[in-house]
Amino acid sequence: MQVSGQTTQRAIPAAWNKRPLIISGPCSAETEEQVVQTAQRLAATGKIDMLRAGIWKPRTKPGMFEGVGAKGLPRPQQAKKLTGLPTTVEVATGKQVQDALTFDVDVLWIGARTTVNPFSVQEVADALRGVEVPVLIKNPINPDLELWGGAVERVARAGVKNIGLIHRGFSSYGNTEYRNAPMWHLAIDMKLRHPGMMMINDPSHICGRRDILLEVMQRAIDLDYEGLMIESHVDPDHAWSDAKQQVTPERLSEMLDTIIWRKEDVSSDEYHAALEKLRQQINQLDDELMQILSQRMKVAEQIGNYKRSNNITILQTNRWNEIIERAIAKGDKLGLSREFITHYLDAVHMESINHQKKIMDS
Ligand code: PEP
Ligand code: MN
Repeated sequence: MQVSGQTTQRAIPAAWNKRPLIISGPCSAETEEQVVQTAQRLAATGKIDMLRAGIWKPRTKPGMFEGVGAKGLPRPQQAKKLTGLPTTVEVATGKQVQDALTFDVDVLWIGARTTVNPFSVQEVADALRGVEVPVLIKNPINPDLELWGGAVERVARAGVKNIGLIHRGFSSYGNTEYRNAPMWHLAIDMKLRHPGMMMINDPSHICGRRDILLEVMQRAIDLDYEGLMIESHVDPDHAWSDAKQQVTPERLSEMLDTIIWRKEDVSSDEYHAALEKLRQQINQLDDELMQILSQRMKVAEQIGNYKRSNNITILQTNRWNEIIERAIAKGDKLGLSREFITHYLDAVHMESINHQKKIMDS
């Protein structure tokens, strides 16, 4: 179906441009009935734009359920025929790309375990050359925006024009609240690096459990994400993979009704005037903060001078611990989180050390 040098014309599904784009379906296409029934119940809610179904499942250990493989591809195709929902499937190899396209999958997605591997991404990209199919690229499992951006570049260089991003969180060691830490600031940074490229949130793989899905979905909408990809299953507790994080189509529908959908802008004059005033205040406060920080660095430089003439080390651990403890206690009273104070002081400290180092070296 692919002729070198030519582009195979495929219709881009209208849903691709719908905002917010809501994708749902099972982690894995287990059986024909499961895929078809999930799709029908999703379609019945009237709130779902695209059906997802994993055919090949990259699993951490051998012996875990690794997906039904290519023989499962007729299932989403059948579900599309019955419901009209366009479909999306994860691909990790060139062969999987070809198989998925043969079975009319509308949108392909590259999984987190594939995005980390430039060889695999390149292989997928090469298989996409000359094919007009939209591709969603999940963040790599490690928090590395260069790697995520590299995958985008490889796919774009293969000639794919419709690329979107999926934020599914980042692996970390040990038990945390999340299965994959969201690290929202990374996704926001990625969005800024790729203006105009849609960013979808995948709360299912961030949470790894049902009870906190809704708050993550709301957070994504608050942050102006363009869509959501949520795993759903007709019988979540008995799902063959990711059972704890899947929800029924009806539960998903309830959650989508609960979300407060936000828009980036409104045309009310009153709103704009009020916001303009508040933004001026923010600018003013930011200026003052910078003035104060600059003063703080000047004081640090004076300390640097004393340290230099007395041959004292720049870093003084005891003093530093004292500063942190004092600031955390104070921040707590002022409604500033321990996490923020720690990040903030780390940055201030680094800058302070750099200023003192210049003095020491002079
Ligand atoms: C999935 O979407 O089912 C999946 C395997 O996700 P990820 O690549 O984010 O782990
Ligand atoms: Mn899954």
